[in-house]
Amino acid sequence: MRGIGQFFAVMLMAAAAFPLAAGAEDAKVKPASAQRWSIAIHGGAGVIPRGSLTPAEESAYRQGLSDALAAGSAVLKAGGTSLDAVEAAVKMLENNPLFNAGKGAVFDAEGKNQLDAAIMDGTTLRAGAVAGVSATKNPIMLARAVMEHSPHVLLSGSGADQFAREQHIEQVDPSYFRTEKRWQQYLEWKKGRNSASLDPTHRFGTVGAVAVDVNGHLAAATSTGGTTGKRWGRIGDSPLIGAGTYAYHNDCAVSATGTGEYFIRESAARQLCDRVRWRNQSVADAAKDTIASIGAIGGDGGLIAIDGKGEVAFAMNTEGMYRGRASAADETPRVAIYADEVIAGR
Ligand code: ASP
Repeated sequence: MRGIGQFFAVMLMAAAAFPLAAGAEDAKVKPASAQRWSIAIHGGAGVIPRGSLTPAEESAYRQGLSDALAAGSAVLKAGGTSLDAVEAAVKMLENNPLFNAGKGAVFDAEGKNQLDAAIMDGTTLRAGAVAGVSATKNPIMLARAVMEHSPHVLLSGSGADQFAREQHIEQVDPSYFRTEKRWQQYLEWKKGRNSASLDPTHRFGTVGAVAVDVNGHLAAATSTGGTTGKRWGRIGDSPLIGAGTYAYHNDCAVSATGTGEYFIRESAARQLCDRVRWRNQSVADAAKDTIASIGAIGGDGGLIAIDGKGEVAFAMNTEGMYRGRASAADETPRVAIYADEVIAGR
């Protein structure tokens, strides 16, 4: 009896020292030496046929994407976390007036900028998000603060901005977000009250990033001004965990852009990760099938995804998506705009 008692005591101690859940996840993480970093970003999808952008516009977009990739890559190359990398890349895109996030965000029906953002840590499954903020310069930083310094996942409106002030996150006058181009798009929308009257090359300008770091940890981040002319406190897919943003352990991380209402209904980002996890699909196939499911109910847009090995996938049912990737294996930022440009891989 004594022997059996001792055996169970030893087993109990072992179980306490190596909790099953943590052990199971750790076993999936590759040792730092074998793991290589990888990052992918997007700056929105839309109808972007060749020739619709001037050469100057096209190179400005490509430069903006390269700069954001460089910011994220610098973090990963130095051994930083995927969370820091996706935040750095998205912050760069928020500060770039070309994209519909942070400065350069689209206007709502009242002519105001209301910003949404989300971030998720695949390793811990912690997430933070904000919706309808109007005075926080970088909503992605606020989303991260919600994740790390509040007991909540999603804060909205003036309460979110108040939390930002309490966290000493930089505040700006709402006029900071305004760009002349977006204002003209808003006036066009007001005239026609019809999103079809908007410049289609800028229809979706949401930004996002997904990354895996040298420790095999995945993260995703998304930031947006939403859709032009949105009303009644409308919130899209971007700040909704599982719709526009998701990261799940070592399986995958996703950021989406497009008609948010459809991405919400299809739980797009979570759906993609479930396809990888439960159906054993590659991220490329899962991304393609998820976009097909969005299209099947009438939605359009695109998404980026990455798996634990750093394999990157881009999928869209639009004519283009501003996008890019870089990795330890190929540090030169590869950027693309048109649907037929191929840059996926590892
Ligand atoms: N998905 C965003 C939203 O519905 C819009 C976009 O991608 O530009 O708010």
